[in-house]
Amino acid sequence: MMINGEWVKGCYYLDRSLKEYRNNRPHFHDSWRIDVVYDNHRFRSRHKTAAEAEKALLLLKEQHIEEYVATCEWCGRVFEVCSGYQRFCSPGCKAAYRNQWRRRSLGFMVLDEHGRRLTQKVIPKGK
Ligand SMILES: [Zn+2]
Repeated sequence: MMINGEWVKGCYYLDRSLKEYRNNRPHFHDSWRIDVVYDNHRFRSRHKTAAEAEKALLLLKEQHIEEYVATCEWCGRVFEVCSGYQRFCSPGCKAAYRNQWRRRSLGFMVLDEHGRRLTQKVIPKGK
């Protein structure tokens, strides 16, 4: 999610779920919870205010900053991710990667007797 224009993993939310029954009357939670996974470990905690929850998420980001770095699959540049799942450092690299596949798939394109393209997908076996 975005916090102050910065991408941070995880989320925080106001928890108003049922806490307990006291004197036969329900009491509800009234706290902000954070929930985020780093290094296959789930971090959860409770906070009194939304600002505290945001701070906790930002602190966890600092502590796991290495998970915010990825290598571009097209140009190999190391970059900081600014969304959940990002494989390319720029839209240009994403487009270049896609075009590569389009060009490759042309090899499998077949024309019918009228010269029209048949978009027939041929997937080589064992690959
Ligand atoms: Zn790139």
